[in-house]
Amino acid sequence: MTTLVLPSKVTICEVAPRDGFQAENKWIPTEEKIRIVRSLANTGVRSMEITSFVHPRAIPQLKDAAEVVRGAEDLTNIKFRALVPNVKGAERAIDAGITKLKLMLSATDSHSLSNANSLVEDAQNGFTPIIELAEKNNVKVGGSISVAWGCPYEGKVPLERIISIVDRYTKMGIEEVSLADTTGMANPKQVYEYLGVLKNEFPKMEFSMHLHNTRGMALANAFAALQQGIVLFDSSIAGLGGCPYAPGASGNVATEDLVHAFEEMGIDTGMNLDSLIATAKEVKNYFGHDGGSYMLQAGPSSALSPRVKAQEKLES
Ligand code: ZN
Repeated sequence: MTTLVLPSKVTICEVAPRDGFQAENKWIPTEEKIRIVRSLANTGVRSMEITSFVHPRAIPQLKDAAEVVRGAEDLTNIKFRALVPNVKGAERAIDAGITKLKLMLSATDSHSLSNANSLVEDAQNGFTPIIELAEKNNVKVGGSISVAWGCPYEGKVPLERIISIVDRYTKMGIEEVSLADTTGMANPKQVYEYLGVLKNEFPKMEFSMHLHNTRGMALANAFAALQQGIVLFDSSIAGLGGCPYAPGASGNVATEDLVHAFEEMGIDTGMNLDSLIATAKEVKNYFGHDGGSYMLQAGPSSALSPRVKAQEKLES
């Protein structure tokens, strides 16, 4: 038997409080947001994208970002990060006590215009004051690339484009970049091939994968990324999420599905699958829907053991 060498340990960042909540049209009261964040905190998660400090008019659902952050400030074993679209958002995030900011950027001009009303290059030029402010306040900054694998307006994104964006991030001193499959257009072969080149070109850069399961390929894409040694993944409890500006975009890969898949392969996530499934059920009950979760549908494969035994008894 040939052994497949994969990372022994990964870190999962829970993004439902940002990516999931912003996709919900109905107002989620602040105390309910905090309650879900606190329930997630009991699953063993150590990293969470808790909110986005966007203009309240752009995404009204997240207008209570600062209050949500304050409602979780005693959860000191979790590294909270927040998405910031501009320096004003960065100021608000830092004031609220956030110690890691994530920059927002699209891979293509079309997506950038519809998502952030600016061209990619203009958005990049806006990063300098954010990074300066973060440095002054001893706050970390990570980069992101939305629609990195495929754009709903422009189709497949060429690797050269991603390389040039990562290169610019590198020159700005950024050490971690999230590669987002915002609309579920990536495929495992592409993920494997792109990451192979990116890791080679930027050996010091930490890449993280932010996968949506719009077309059922998120777990396969995660596996391709694992094979390239990627150890940072985003996911969302109960598969909540979707970019409100991307046509047809729905559902991040569910945290419970990703953890199940990793743990089945013997990869340590540090998270507790039973607590995750319990929280996913609570979240589904509250919203009246999930965003696609195999664990909520079928349960973990380990739960089948008792039934197999019963069958054995019948046959004997
Ligand atoms: Zn997303």
